[in-house]
Amino acid sequence: MEQIDWGGLPFGYFKTDYNVRCYFRNGKWGEIEVTSSEYVQIHIAATCLHYGQEAFEGMKAFRGRDGRIRVFRWEENAKRMQNSCRGIMMAEPPLELFKEAMIRVIKLNEKHIPPPGLGAALYLRPLTIGTGPQVGVKPAVEYMFMIFVGPVGPYFREGFNPVDVQIVRDYDRTAPHGTGHIKVGGNYAASLRPADRAKREGFSTVLFIDAKENKYIDEAGPANFFGIKGNTYVTPDSHTILPSITNKSLRQLAADFGMRVEQRQVPIGELAEFEEVGACGTAAVVSPIKRIVDRETGQVYEYCKDGKAGPVSTKLYKTLKAIQEGEMEDSYGWNLIID
Ligand SMILES: *Cc1c(COP(=O)(O)O)cnc(C)c1O
Repeated sequence: MEQIDWGGLPFGYFKTDYNVRCYFRNGKWGEIEVTSSEYVQIHIAATCLHYGQEAFEGMKAFRGRDGRIRVFRWEENAKRMQNSCRGIMMAEPPLELFKEAMIRVIKLNEKHIPPPGLGAALYLRPLTIGTGPQVGVKPAVEYMFMIFVGPVGPYFREGFNPVDVQIVRDYDRTAPHGTGHIKVGGNYAASLRPADRAKREGFSTVLFIDAKENKYIDEAGPANFFGIKGNTYVTPDSHTILPSITNKSLRQLAADFGMRVEQRQVPIGELAEFEEVGACGTAAVVSPIKRIVDRETGQVYEYCKDGKAGPVSTKLYKTLKAIQEGEMEDSYGWNLIID
């Protein structure tokens, strides 16, 4: 078997042995199929190619020091996938199908689950696409649900080291009544240009501002934003933000630490009042931010003056990781153990 440098893995595609697929035809979902092919063969008029009928998920499985495999909050991802499918009129994979496909693909690729303690995990990428042909703008009648997996390292190459982000005002990720609240590929297409520009200008990611009033913090690129002010955990509330399961978990942990939790509009100017800020998501985990630069106004907000993540972000990060890796009691039953 090839030697994998588990500690040096980037967040990227990694070829594994198998992926699983299931087709929706004649109004119903079929059997789960296992394949080693990295390709899908689809109709030239498939709606995913023309009209953006595509929704995805991102989740992680961890190998604990006890040798057991844990998947974090899978049911939340499965329900969100259903909600995303509903939002763009696709057939919804049932929760049981999602669960069975997930367990099979993890077990089939067990050798690719990174060992504990190296900051790596097995990333799961479920997706649903419209495969049936349409040339007029209509939802497809056929769909494919699949899950592929691969070992990954940290999303930002900085890992848990603080990153720089750029506020963009000349691009919106999504419209006020658009699809920002669901996990569809189209939102990402719209984010590519500003994200690429931010990288060229030396930033790890962008901070989007609300598309309607241009006043409030929205998404932190592919992750949610949070700020810490005194004993309060603050995170933006908006229809255009994807409800992050990581953020939901951090809100619970913050409350357990005895903090106040506020989910509300966060005016851009409030950035000056936070002691700590960060991005959170399955891929980003908890990524502390050290500098936010407003590209248009030139305003700079600085955090982590000593170059290190703040105490609250650190505690949230460590607690979340400890639960995911089975080092701390999973008192909310967030993990599914796969034997
Ligand atoms: C997936 C995603 C997140 C993070 O959600 P998690 O459930 O924590 O992984 C945040 N923002 C956007 C835009 C996303 O697509």
